[in-house]
Amino acid sequence: MKLTQTIIDNLLITVKKSTITHAHASVILDGNRPIIYTYNSHWGRTSKHAEVNAINRLMALQPKVRYNAQRNKKNKIHKKYTLIVIRYSNNHFVYSHPCPACMRRINDCGLIKKVLYS
Ligand SMILES: [Zn+2]
Repeated sequence: MKLTQTIIDNLLITVKKSTITHAHASVILDGNRPIIYTYNSHWGRTSKHAEVNAINRLMALQPKVRYNAQRNKKNKIHKKYTLIVIRYSNNHFVYSHPCPACMRRINDCGLIKKVLYS
């Protein structure tokens, strides 16, 4: 996994699409290759966190794997993706450790090997 300036630039473009007060963006990397950029979005009266939007899109790309966390945990073969989360506010990166619900989703999907955050 290599965090390039292009990835950082694309995260900054993505985070500006969020209309949530605490704007977050995520990217999922397959090796060094960014495959999904997402941001947090309104969801009813609450919001869907950027990490959850990213995992949902990753699951959609993985029709064979689906929500088969047990098998993936055992084999670890599909756990090859890196998830990066940033929060950006007033031209600064802000601490963005995923919340407990997102951490659960990240662990349960069985696809994410490594999580990085701002
Ligand atoms: Zn969260």
